[in-house]
Amino acid sequence: MRAAIFMSRCPKSKRDWHLMKTHIVIGAGQAGAHAAVSMRRAGFHGRIILLGDELVHSYERPPLSKSFITELESERIANFFPLSHYLNEKVEVLAGVAAEAIDPAAGAVSLAFGGKIPFDKVILATGSRPRTLSVPGSDRVLTLRTFADAVQIKKAFTSGRKVVCIGAGVIGLELASAAISRGCQATVLEVGDRVMARSLDKAASRTIEAMHRDAGVEFVFGHSVVAVEPNAVVTDVGLRILADVVVAGIGVDRNVALAQSAGLSVGKGVLTDASGRTNIDCVLAAGEVAEFYSEREGAHVVLETSRHAQMHGTLVGQVAAGQELVYDDVPWFWSDQHGANIQVAGSHRAAVSTVYRGDPLSKRFCAYYLNSRSAVVGAFGLNAGRDVSAALRLIRSGIAADPEILADITIMSGKLVSAPRA
Ligand SMILES: Cc1cc2nc3c(=O)[nH]c(=O)nc-3n(C[C@H](O)[C@H](O)[C@H](O)COP(=O)(O)OP(=O)(O)OC[C@H]3O[C@@H](n4cnc5c(N)ncnc54)[C@H](O)[C@@H]3O)c2cc1C
Repeated sequence: MRAAIFMSRCPKSKRDWHLMKTHIVIGAGQAGAHAAVSMRRAGFHGRIILLGDELVHSYERPPLSKSFITELESERIANFFPLSHYLNEKVEVLAGVAAEAIDPAAGAVSLAFGGKIPFDKVILATGSRPRTLSVPGSDRVLTLRTFADAVQIKKAFTSGRKVVCIGAGVIGLELASAAISRGCQATVLEVGDRVMARSLDKAASRTIEAMHRDAGVEFVFGHSVVAVEPNAVVTDVGLRILADVVVAGIGVDRNVALAQSAGLSVGKGVLTDASGRTNIDCVLAAGEVAEFYSEREGAHVVLETSRHAQMHGTLVGQVAAGQELVYDDVPWFWSDQHGANIQVAGSHRAAVSTVYRGDPLSKRFCAYYLNSRSAVVGAFGLNAGRDVSAALRLIRSGIAADPEILADITIMSGKLVSAPRA
């Protein structure tokens, strides 16, 4: 049984507990931590319990595939909030405590180590876990989600070792980059025909692939893994790629078991409206586990980004406190690979044209994706954070932009939003 650590102040007497409403947040990741704190700030005066099954209290995952592995001396964890902040906000943090079941009718959460906590509302923020391969030898494959996973990968990436990264998504590419910076050889094996295909257009994929090849990463496209041997990865066309370390970044599965057994509607994730409410009144869902209705997309969507977890968690916390709000954030994420900063805003999918701000063959440029009305609907930036920030504002505004002005690097990106259309 894992230890439960009770880390914050409780109401003074047992009698007070019964007078107060109790809101439980299940999952102390980015969405859960922000939901708990924002609920308090939005004026909820009752008990807030933040329940997380990891012993390490709520921390940022993005550094785990980047600086945590590349910086030898760094074992630092970046927490969203210091513990004192939870104390100040009177959020009771239970670390190392898994919720085993939610009974909405009885209004109680059962804990894995025994006991029940009564609640008035629950926010499910249980996130995801890495998808795993089901081929012979897949137990040799490392995946990355938690601090403990990152410690294991960091130990494995020692100079001269051959690392095979399965999957050319963000995690696979960041691990290839980290492997190279630790002096390893890196090969990325991808079943599709290009990198980051879910989020980039073909031109941007080529840019990122070229950057990796320049840094010494090798790619094998169009192969899938059929076995992982002690020293090699075997593909469906019989290729054997020598490997001392095999890591997989092949997507995630959302942690929906609690939701399913509680009778919540589940698709790819826990289905919610645009405010994070599920089909059961007293249960909301936030962050990566939620498949929320997006008015922008006119459909239910799932997002796997740090900003989304924070913004969605914050909003759902406010909704749980009684505010009427609708989630309307523009998707945005960043990634760091081989010392370059990559940022993606919105989506290129509805675009009919692309405007480049800067030379797309250079190491610093931004691609703006325009729809048929010349409104910016997405952006890809390489070392061009300010240009992507401008894109976020343009996407939110929905106004038609002048391609010549967008491309004109003599106009500061901060001025692009207000620049008149010719
Ligand atoms: C290695 C890595 C690098 C990343 N890099 C980037 C990046 O560069 N840019 C970017 O935009 N995004 C990045 N992301 C994505 C981003 O970090 C995630 O989308 C975000 O952390 C999701 O937050 P969440 O709170 O919804 O879920 P999670 O972070 O998954 O948190 C959910 C928590 O709930 C816990 N839990 C699950 N079930 C239970 C239960 N029954 N009882 C109690 N607790 C439970 C889980 O253990 C976990 O601690 C990265 C992710 C990873 C893994």
